[in-house]
Amino acid sequence: MKSQMKALVKSRPEAGLWLEDVPVPTPGINDVLIRVLAAGICGTDLHIHQWDEWAQKTIQVPLVIGHEFVGEIAGIGSNVTDFAIGDIVSGEGHVTCGRCRNCLAGRRHLCAHTMGVGVQRPGAFAEYIVLPMSNIWRHNAKVDLDIAAIFDPFGNAVHTALSFPVLGEDVLITGAGPIGIMAAAVVVHAGARNVVITDVNPQRLDLARKMGVTLAVNTSETRLAEVQKQLGMREGFDVGLEMSGNPSAFREMLTNMSHGAKIAMLGIPSSEMAIEWKEVIFNMLTIKGIYGREMYETWYKMTVMLESGLDISPIITHRFSWRDYQQGFEAMRIGGSGKVILDWRDVQ
Ligand code: NAD
Ligand code: ZN
Repeated sequence: MKSQMKALVKSRPEAGLWLEDVPVPTPGINDVLIRVLAAGICGTDLHIHQWDEWAQKTIQVPLVIGHEFVGEIAGIGSNVTDFAIGDIVSGEGHVTCGRCRNCLAGRRHLCAHTMGVGVQRPGAFAEYIVLPMSNIWRHNAKVDLDIAAIFDPFGNAVHTALSFPVLGEDVLITGAGPIGIMAAAVVVHAGARNVVITDVNPQRLDLARKMGVTLAVNTSETRLAEVQKQLGMREGFDVGLEMSGNPSAFREMLTNMSHGAKIAMLGIPSSEMAIEWKEVIFNMLTIKGIYGREMYETWYKMTVMLESGLDISPIITHRFSWRDYQQGFEAMRIGGSGKVILDWRDVQ
């Protein structure tokens, strides 16, 4: 086993990300050491690369970043009995405390003291990563490695999309980023009647159309009231999935929901956001905040939906070697991409 490895490190408090040789992490008795095979670049990684205000407040340098990945188990701690060398696994990106009220009650996704992989602890843009065994999801041996690499954001999509029953319902998704588009594929698979997704970026809307949505709507050109008419809808959307973080997208959603509708909010607004609360009250809306994935019900659902024919592969639009990570970040920065994958298989 070598002692040094390649990793993408946020080593200085300024814009940029640097390829460095760092020590291979050592697993503790309850940990698993994973050889990373492929990793996805998340919007969060882009924020850290660009060193925006959020990153400056959140990240302690130096830090190996990245949290979306698949890998092969390369080492296990002495307390670990249910994983074996060679297992193909992904890591749940939220490491929970195990001691708060929610953790003790088995509601780990509601932990009040979550630590983010690649944000508050060393991440996955590296040859190796160490995680507690409680954060490991073992894949079926035949899983596509690129799809397995994006189980983390796919999980955000699934957690949000399945928060409320969608069978036979009219579903509105605001924001056709990678997560919005994967959520659209999930609600189509889960039997929604109409699935309408909105964005202001034509490339993203084209990508969404590959997922079998009823309509992909550019809201800088078309209002949702018109869309409702076009689809023969009279009372508004039954379920809303907010996946843009954009205040005007959310306001447009609120005015187009049916009475008693349910909204799951994943998109993160960059600052305070004013809405017409009377619409929430008089239309008796339920709004639920979503963070991360449910451990491990979401992971189970992802696995079985893929087995039962859900295909999210069109969402992967770019693949690069780890050596060309700057090109991967550039594809993300330009916008319009789906998921960007970094391949870590060929490190010597
Ligand atoms: P993304 O930034 O790629 O996608 C957001 C999309 O919203 C973009 O395509 C953008 O063009 C679109 N948009 C902007 N203005 C719009 C408008 N007025 N109407 C409709 N669409 C509009 O992000 P992503 O990676 O797909 O993630 C989606 C959101 O979820 C982001 O806000 C992200 O920060 C957030 N997120 C939350 C969690 C969580 O656990 N809560 C986890 C991951 C990501
Ligand atoms: Zn906890």
